Amino acid sequence: MAYYAVTQLRRHAPWALAWCVVSLVGALLMARLELSKLRDAFDTDARIAHRLLSQKAAQHDAVLSTLALLRPADESARPEQRLPSVYPQILSVQRRDRDASWSDEALRAAEAESRRLKRPALAEVNFAKARYHLVLGGEPTSFALLIDIRAMIPWSEWPMASDASPVRVTLEHNEQTLVLQPGNTVRNPARGWHFDFRKPLSADSQPFLLVAGRQVGWAQLPWGWMLSWSLLVAVLLLAARALLRQRHDRHRAEELLRLGQIGRLNTLGELAAGLAHELNQPLTAILASTQAAGRLLAEDPPDPADLGTARTAIAQATDQAKRASDVVNRLRRAVEQPDLGGQVEQVSLLVAARSAVYLLEPELARLGISPAVEMDGPEFTVLAEPVALEQIIHNLMINALQALELVPAPQRTLTLKLDVADKRGRLTLQDTGPGMANNVVSRIFEPFFTTRKGGLGLGLSLCETLTGGMGGTLTAFNRVPRGAEFCLSLPLVP
Ligand code: ADP
Repeated sequence: MAYYAVTQLRRHAPWALAWCVVSLVGALLMARLELSKLRDAFDTDARIAHRLLSQKAAQHDAVLSTLALLRPADESARPEQRLPSVYPQILSVQRRDRDASWSDEALRAAEAESRRLKRPALAEVNFAKARYHLVLGGEPTSFALLIDIRAMIPWSEWPMASDASPVRVTLEHNEQTLVLQPGNTVRNPARGWHFDFRKPLSADSQPFLLVAGRQVGWAQLPWGWMLSWSLLVAVLLLAARALLRQRHDRHRAEELLRLGQIGRLNTLGELAAGLAHELNQPLTAILASTQAAGRLLAEDPPDPADLGTARTAIAQATDQAKRASDVVNRLRRAVEQPDLGGQVEQVSLLVAARSAVYLLEPELARLGISPAVEMDGPEFTVLAEPVALEQIIHNLMINALQALELVPAPQRTLTLKLDVADKRGRLTLQDTGPGMANNVVSRIFEPFFTTRKGGLGLGLSLCETLTGGMGGTLTAFNRVPRGAEFCLSLPLVP
C-alpha cells in the first residue's frame, strides 16, 4: 500500500506543485493590487482632508488681515463681533486698541511675535480643549481670534465618514495631539500593513501637523477572489491533466494493441496455420500415390506390367514426403532463427526500456510497483530490430509482473539495469518474485515449457529466438535471496 502511495505521490506531485505556484503568484498579485487600491484611496482622502483644513487656516489669516485694514468710521461699531456668526469656528474676537493693553500675557507675547514676523502668530494652543488663539499685531488696533479646531472641519465636504472610517486623523503641535477622527485600527505593522500621511497645514501662521494613518490587516485582503482564483486554477489543471492522461492512455492502448498483434503473428496458431497450408498438398499426393500402389500390388501374384507403375507411384510418394520434410524444416528454421540481421538498426536500449515501462504503467500502478531504471555509465546504442527488441523487453516485464504478483506488495521491486560489457550492451531485469525452481531454470527457454496455469510456454522461447536472430543472447538466473534475473545482451554500436 505504501508503495502504491509513493507511486501516486510521484504522479501527482508535479501537478500539485504547479497548482501551488500558479495559485500563489495569482493570489500575491491580487493582494498587491488590493493593497495599492487601498493605499491610493487613503492618500487621496488624506490629501483632501489636508487641503480642507489648510483652507480654513488660510481663511483665519485673511479674516485678521481684513480686520486690520478696516477702519470703521464709528469706533464703537465693532464689526469684528459679528464674525462668529459668519465663521462658526471663530468663537470670539478680542481687540486691543491703541492705549489699551492685553489682559492676557500670552496674547501680548503673540502680538509682539506677530509684529516681528509680520503675520499672525499663535497663542495659547490648547489641544485638550481643541482651541487656540491667533493674534495679529496691528497699528493702531490688534486682533485676536479664539478658534475652535473641531468646528474648522467642514463635515459636508470631509472625504471620510468620521465615525466609521478606518482612517485615524490627528493634528499635532508641540507634543500635543488632537484626535479629529478616531479610525478603528491601531498601528501594528506586524499584523499587516500601515499607511501614513504627515504634512503641516499650508498656512505659516498655524503650522499644525496633520497626521493620517490606516492599518490594513490580513483579514482585509481579497480572500474570496484569491480562493476563487486557486479553485479556478485547480479546475483548469485537473482538466488539462485529464486531457493529457486521456491522450496517454489512448497512445498506450494503441501501442499495446500493436505489440499484441505482432505477438500473435508469432504464436502457435500462425505456425499451425502455415504448417497445415504447406503440408496439405504433399500429404494428399502421398496418400494418392501409396493408395494407387497398394491397389496395384494387391493382386497375388501382382501383374508384372503393374509393377513398374507401382514403383513410379512409390517414388512419387517418396518425393512428396521429402517435400513435406523440407517444408517442416523451412518452417522450423523460419521460426527458430528468423534472420533479423538485415533489419537491425541503431537503437537506444535506455529508450526501449523506458518505453516498455511506459506501456505497462497502469499494470505497474495496479501492483504498486515503481520500477527503477538504472543506467551505469553514458547512454549507449545497440544493433537491434526495434519491434523485436520492444517485444522481448515487454515479454520479460510481463513475466516479472506475473512473478511479483505472487509476493506481498511491500516486497515487490523491479529493477532495469543498463550497462556495457565485452562490447555488448546489456539490459538486466531483476525482480523480487519467488524465482524459479532448479529444474525450471534449465528448461525455461524450451518451447511449450510453462509452470503457469493457462500459460503457453512460448514467451521466453520466442524471446530467445528473436534475440538470437539479432546476434544477441538471453540468459536467466535465480537471485539471492529471492527473485529472478534475465540478462539481454546485444551487439553494441561501435
Ligand atoms: P508462460 O508465461 O506462458 O508460462 P514463458 O515462456 O514466458 O511462458 O515462461 C516460461 C516459464 O518461465 C514460466 O511458466 C515461469 O515458470 C518461468 N518464468 C518466467 N519468468 C519468470 C520470472 N520472472 N520469475 C519466475 N519464473 C519465471
